[in-house]
Amino acid sequence: MKPEHPQYPHLFSPLSVAHLTLPNRVIMGSMHIGLEEKRDGMKALSEFYKERAQGGAGLIVTGGVSPNRRGALGPGGARMANSRHARAHEVITDAVHLAGGRICLQLLHGGRYSYHPFNVAPSAIQAPINRFKPSALSSRGIRSTIRDYIRSAKLAQKAGYDGLEIMGSEGYLINQFLVRRTNQRSDEWGGTLENRMRFPLEIVQGIRAACGPDFVIMYRLSMLDLVEEGGSWSEVVTLACNIEAAGANIINTGIGWHEARIPTIATLVPRGGFSFVTAKLKGEVSIPLVTTNRFNMPDACEAALAAGHADMVSMARPFLADPDIVRKSEANQAHRINTCIGCNQACLDHIFQRQTASCLVNPRAGNELSMPVLPPQVVSAKRVAVIGGGPAGMSCALEAARAGHQVTVYEAAEQLGGQFNLARRIPGKSEFAETIRYFENMLEEAGATVHLGVRADAALLSETGFDEVVVATGVQPRPFRLPGSERQEVVNYIDVLTGKVQVGNRVAIVGAGGIGFDTADFLSHDRDEELGFYASWGIDKELETIGGLKPPGNRKTKREIHMFQRSEKKMGGGLGKTTGWIHRQTLKQRGVKFHTGVRYEMIGDEGLVYLDAKGVRQCFNCDHVVICAGQLPNNALVATLQLAGDWHVHSIGGAQSAQKLDAERAIIEGTQLGRSL
Ligand code: NAP
Ligand code: SF4
Repeated sequence: MKPEHPQYPHLFSPLSVAHLTLPNRVIMGSMHIGLEEKRDGMKALSEFYKERAQGGAGLIVTGGVSPNRRGALGPGGARMANSRHARAHEVITDAVHLAGGRICLQLLHGGRYSYHPFNVAPSAIQAPINRFKPSALSSRGIRSTIRDYIRSAKLAQKAGYDGLEIMGSEGYLINQFLVRRTNQRSDEWGGTLENRMRFPLEIVQGIRAACGPDFVIMYRLSMLDLVEEGGSWSEVVTLACNIEAAGANIINTGIGWHEARIPTIATLVPRGGFSFVTAKLKGEVSIPLVTTNRFNMPDACEAALAAGHADMVSMARPFLADPDIVRKSEANQAHRINTCIGCNQACLDHIFQRQTASCLVNPRAGNELSMPVLPPQVVSAKRVAVIGGGPAGMSCALEAARAGHQVTVYEAAEQLGGQFNLARRIPGKSEFAETIRYFENMLEEAGATVHLGVRADAALLSETGFDEVVVATGVQPRPFRLPGSERQEVVNYIDVLTGKVQVGNRVAIVGAGGIGFDTADFLSHDRDEELGFYASWGIDKELETIGGLKPPGNRKTKREIHMFQRSEKKMGGGLGKTTGWIHRQTLKQRGVKFHTGVRYEMIGDEGLVYLDAKGVRQCFNCDHVVICAGQLPNNALVATLQLAGDWHVHSIGGAQSAQKLDAERAIIEGTQLGRSL
């Protein structure tokens, strides 16, 4: 139902592109889900897209599909190269159209990013993020690749797609042709800009000629390469004008090559933080422009559109987090949106580990077939107590309440959220507060009763009487025992992050897992705060430099921080694949010192005494030692409750096991248990 006074007028004004009139200005951006390559994956993928079409996306773009074998992202990677491939996609286009949606296939040739030994590129220059060196395409090879693109486009049209997105950014093959960093050819495909642009222009012209005027061609144009020897702004404008003239209907914004060492989509990137790039292209072309990157809530989208930065906004991961994000925005119900927190943990990190993408805050994403929306079972409703309102407890309570059970949540703290209340205090992680907000609102909507500031025990639960009791009491810091560890300058990370303890200027951090890194970040962000995101990372907001790079500001913290771990492994090696480098680079640039392979000896007046990796005794004279030495389960209640009542006792998340615990596992366990009660 449309609200009487739409809060987001620009977002919900329709837009016509080719023969399509889009109901709103939201594009669901391309995401590789990992189902594309799975046997029987297309049915699951169609279910995934169908839910997003029902959720109101104006236009959906599929994950990248290669026009040929050499361009596939990995061995056996998705291709659109023959009629059999096209037929396999019909289940997707049918499902989306039946749900009232529109869908484009993304054509993506990986070039030197393709992770296999037969990859190709304009020149034989290896990517720093790929162990396979590409062969240089011959002139014939280039011509046949262009023909492959055109053949794929015709097959996509046959499969029922409304159009294509041609991936020309992020450092993939087309992008590789455009800049000297990767194109050192001296024939008609290299050298001058005219020659370097020839490859994308012939692709767009060829597809337009082959597919006719009504087929949508969206071109994803790299507007900010963020790599050395990337493009200049004048080249971006020239390319955009030529892409329009070649027959594209929409230009989408591409920000940053995958090999760039600047974050472009992680949580610390400000919301909509790259729309200034799209804005600079406004007025240079007459076709609609799409802005992207770190749009996750309707107000950010609306602000970019209202400011005239773009004609449309593309969001990708937010559709994993909440398939109904558009419908909820349209109904002025932003408070009901399950917000993407930009963590990459269950989406991109999964893809890099060759697993199916899902979402940390929405485990149903990518699993719509195996985890259908359950109808509420009113008849067999049970009385369910959930002890602990962290990620595991909140997700369990919500699923159980949605299933029709009478759910009561007991949380000892004065607010829901558990460990997320610590995470949201870390610089650049404030999005974690959105997840707490979502669960608070949804629990209320689902009819769950929440008691805050109440430490539940068997006596309290017996007063009410429950059929099922879920212990979701999380974790507690692992005690650190060493001569001197009882000293008052030895503190735990919770007291530091909550501000209970103010630490001095010389700090030792014991333990370098996720929490150790977060704590170091928290204690060292003083200069970054003054510089702001762009200056900290060396992004030229004026877009006057090649690749949009300028020297990063001096990020050195005023504190002297040393991090320690006993293992000799790389520090932060267990952090997320797609975000770990950001944390390591940040701390290094801030001057935080890493010590691996240490043996702790004692803490005394002279500070932390330890043996270094070579066995040499060292002493770090510090004001505080912050303990981040991992976690133990907080599960004392489980055994007591099992003896105390005629109920079933379950434990989930950290209370179940602190081993390899993270928010993703906690929410999955909560969701699964809540659905199965
Ligand atoms: P963790 O990742 O297991 O790290 C524990 C650290 O403590 C390790 O560096 C370990 O190194 C050290 N340690 C373990 N036992 C010790 C002992 N007895 N004495 C001294 N040091 C000891 O645990 P966490 O940092 O508490 O994180 C908990 C979970 O939250 C993890 O799953 C983590 O991935 C997740 N998390 C992730 C992020 C992120 O990705 N940014 C942020 C926060 C939390 P040594 O044993 O080598 O000394
Ligand atoms: Fe967003 Fe994290 Fe979910 Fe990925 S896993 S969609 S980044 S919330």
